[in-house]
Amino acid sequence: WMALSLTKQNLSLVRLSSDSAAPCTPHFDVVVIGGGHAGSEAAAAAARCGSRTLLLTHRVDTIGQMSCNPSFGGIGKGHLMREVDALDGLCSRVCDQSGVHYKVLNKCKGPAVWGLRAQIDRKLYKQNMQEEILNTPLLTVQEGAVEDLILTEPEPEHMGKCRVCGVVLMDGSTVHAESVILTTGTFLRGLVVIGLEMHPAGRLGDQPSIGLAQTLEKLGFVVGRLKTGTPPRIAKESIDFSILNKHTPDNPSVPFSFMNETVWIKPEDQLSCYLTHTNPRVDEIVLENLHLNHHIKETTRGPRYCPSIESKVLRFPNRQHQVWLEPEGLDSNLIYPQGLSVTLPAELQEKMITCIRGLEKAKIIQPGYGVQYDYLDPRQITPSLETHLVQRLFFAGQINGTTGYEEAAAQGVVAGINASLRVRRKPPFVISRTEGYIGVLIDDLTTQGTSEPYRMFTSRAEFRLSLRPDNADSRLTFRGYKEAGCVSQPRYERASLMKASLEEGLSVLKSIEFSSSQWKALIPEASISLSRNQRLSALDVLKYEQVDMELLAKAIPEPLKKYTDCRELAQRLKIEATYESALFYQQQEIKQVQQDEALQLPEDLDYLTLRDVSLSDEVREKLHFSRPQTIGAASRIPGVTPAAIVNLLRFVKTQQ
Ligand code: FAD
Repeated sequence: WMALSLTKQNLSLVRLSSDSAAPCTPHFDVVVIGGGHAGSEAAAAAARCGSRTLLLTHRVDTIGQMSCNPSFGGIGKGHLMREVDALDGLCSRVCDQSGVHYKVLNKCKGPAVWGLRAQIDRKLYKQNMQEEILNTPLLTVQEGAVEDLILTEPEPEHMGKCRVCGVVLMDGSTVHAESVILTTGTFLRGLVVIGLEMHPAGRLGDQPSIGLAQTLEKLGFVVGRLKTGTPPRIAKESIDFSILNKHTPDNPSVPFSFMNETVWIKPEDQLSCYLTHTNPRVDEIVLENLHLNHHIKETTRGPRYCPSIESKVLRFPNRQHQVWLEPEGLDSNLIYPQGLSVTLPAELQEKMITCIRGLEKAKIIQPGYGVQYDYLDPRQITPSLETHLVQRLFFAGQINGTTGYEEAAAQGVVAGINASLRVRRKPPFVISRTEGYIGVLIDDLTTQGTSEPYRMFTSRAEFRLSLRPDNADSRLTFRGYKEAGCVSQPRYERASLMKASLEEGLSVLKSIEFSSSQWKALIPEASISLSRNQRLSALDVLKYEQVDMELLAKAIPEPLKKYTDCRELAQRLKIEATYESALFYQQQEIKQVQQDEALQLPEDLDYLTLRDVSLSDEVREKLHFSRPQTIGAASRIPGVTPAAIVNLLRFVKTQQ
């Protein structure tokens, strides 16, 4: 058969296996199934690590498709994007080339919890992402629907586990692979719902994935069901923006990527968002028509933090809910009403929307809809995202019960790196909770599982002061370069230069000392409130809220002026100074956690029959299911008691 194979050098149809007498099955190091946000990152990461990679997806023209909101980032999600970028992932760079409204959220709080966010032009994002993917060396892209996995017989030397060694496509053709990554999003047994109408689909207009869902169930994976939804899209010219609250972008724009000093579009050319609210009439329409709304009757769990308007009306009656009117792109005629995800029949959606201020004459171009889909209990995967059941099979993205592009992208990078390392027989690349939000995300999923779509928040991280958006490169870029090989030379050099400049800057700041009265004379704006002769370093003075590097350098141009030439460096020095004292104590806590984390639990431990450790049957079952890799991970499994952890700890120490 003929397959569409698109690589940098060759944008043409190539014959992967011929009808001739000697058919040849193509063979890749890594095969990624699904070209969504997880799959794109996974495929690019595996290729960057040096693996010959095949991305198999339904349609090449949907690579980079944003199924729901036209925005990336936010609080917690923006942190994930900086970490994906630190590992040389794609989404942050693509957002810097495709945004139409950049804004840092949480600016009134400390820089540890600032949330980089941008409205994105859907069309540009897709174009730029496809260009990245199609120009990645070692990466081939092929259209096709994967129906089944090819597995070896259970291997006694691997505790009777089988190994994945390829995939079967819908047309019966096969591709062999050393590792396979599944990133099928909402497509496994996907069902699209509007009103009382339901039809099988992965998302509106796309076929669902049925065969693969059956294969996974047959293999013994525990499968659950989740749901989500999306709002209708409204014609821009039918909205009266003149009576609504306008929100403008930041000036200057802050880029997502460490590799960029600015974004592609000037602040004055960016688009605005508008805010309006629901009212009691919206509640009435929702409540009067519950009987016509299948999705809302469904008991499967939807996203708690991005709920439908129906769930908000039912959970918080008689309240006004925010509706953000967000542009879908520079030349798009569509507006996305964020906060109005709805599955009422289409005609009732228009009735509901036209009750809202500014939307009285609104015309719906595409109705809102819901999707219900299978996900796999993420306690069935390890922190490298490989499944416990099948060797070399990895899961990433919404298939693991998460929601959001950023959560998917973060898992994609980790799965791509690990699938490649597995082929090269190298140790897994695991990010711990102390190193990144990616570590928090994967640890939460693999130890606690999830019964509702999981979304990242800064409150999920214990070490927020250390896991900041500004320092993701110093946490992850060096590891990515040395241990995984997923980071390019220019990025590594840039991160090294920044690290050296930061260290030098901090030591220079520490070395400059004056008495507090001298500082008061030098920088009157700082309102330094210490006794006259107390000595302070420039680093201490930089901790004052009113002081930044520019002010310090104005007072002491030599040697500080050079640290203000780069805006990012000047800002990072200020942030380091702000958190210096608090970070000292946090680093002690991190060391303690890392000691626990380092205590590995043997991979072949049979918790159900293990007699040397006193554990309740319930704890045994939980450990057996989640198979934690470390004592730290075991201690976070709900229901695994502190007493059980102490017993396990004793046991592990006797085994060392
Ligand atoms: P997707 O981006 O869904 O990509 C899956 C890819 O796999 C697709 O390209 C598909 O074609 C391909 N594929 C599937 N099966 C096969 C197969 N057998 N063979 C080959 N290719 C296959 N997120 C939020 O944060 N908030 C929301 O409110 C929200 N609402 C949503 C509403 C809807 C209707 C949908 C569909 C999604 C919504 N999302 C929301 C989720 C967001 O779109 C996803 O979290 C994100 O896209 C997941 O990325 P992914 O890579 O895991 O999957």
